[in-house]
Amino acid sequence: MAEQNDSKSKNGLVFNGLFDGELTAGFSSRSYGNMSLNYGGTEASLDNRKYFLKSLNVDYRSLVCAKQTHGVNIKRPGLLQKGNGALEYESALADTDAIITDQKNLPVAIFTADCLSIFLYDALTRSIGLIHAGWRGTQGNLVAKTIEAMRGEFNCRPENIHVFFGPVIRSCCYEVGKDFQDKFPKKLLRRGGKFFLDLAEINRQQLSLCGIKPGNITESSICTSCRNEEYFSFRKEGESCGRIMSVMMLK
Ligand SMILES: [Zn+2]
Repeated sequence: MAEQNDSKSKNGLVFNGLFDGELTAGFSSRSYGNMSLNYGGTEASLDNRKYFLKSLNVDYRSLVCAKQTHGVNIKRPGLLQKGNGALEYESALADTDAIITDQKNLPVAIFTADCLSIFLYDALTRSIGLIHAGWRGTQGNLVAKTIEAMRGEFNCRPENIHVFFGPVIRSCCYEVGKDFQDKFPKKLLRRGGKFFLDLAEINRQQLSLCGIKPGNITESSICTSCRNEEYFSFRKEGESCGRIMSVMMLK
C-alpha cells in the first residue's frame, strides 16, 4: 500500500476516503499537538483537540474517550456516554482498549504513540470499532475479541468488515527483548542478532483468521519512529511524549 501524500495524511485519510459519505475517520499528526489529557504536556490538549476535530467537522465536546490500560476490554457506549472523557480524563470509559458503537454522531477516540490504532467499519450494519493495540492487546488477540463483539452486538459478518491500520511503530524500528519469543512464538523477526516485532502483520494475521478479507485491510504505512517529526513515538521520546488521536464517527 502506497503512503498517502502529505496534504491528505494531515488528518489521516482512513480507508482511503472510501466511506467519507457515511463516516468520519482520521488520525492526528504532530502538527496538531498532543491530544491526550493524561500523558505528555496537557496544557494545550483541549485546544489541540478542538482544532483537530474541527477539521473533521466533529464537536470536541461530544467525544467518547477511554482510559486505556493495555487490556482487552471492549465497551459499547451510547448517547448516555456522549462526552465521557471529552473535557477531562476522569470521566473517560474505565479500563477500555476497544470501543464499538452503531450510534450516529457519537465520535469515539483512542490515543497512541507507537501502539497500533485499528479502525473497523461494517457498511452493512452501519457499525464501527476502534482499537488500541500494543503488544499486550495484540498478544491478547483484542482484534478478534472486538470482531466477536461486533458480531454479537450488531450482527456483523466478518467478510463485510473493512479495516484500517493507523500509524504504528513498524518492524523496522520496534526492537524487543529475547523474552518476546515466548509471548509471540515464531512471530518475531531477526536482524543482526536482534529481535523485532511487526504489530501490523500479527494483527493482519489475526484478522484473517477471523474471516476478514485481505483486500478489506488497508494501512497508513506510517512508522511513528521513522517519521517522528510528524508523529509521536514513545520509543523515541520517552515519558514526555504526546499522543496521536484516532477518531471515528458514524454520520
Ligand atoms: Zn521505522
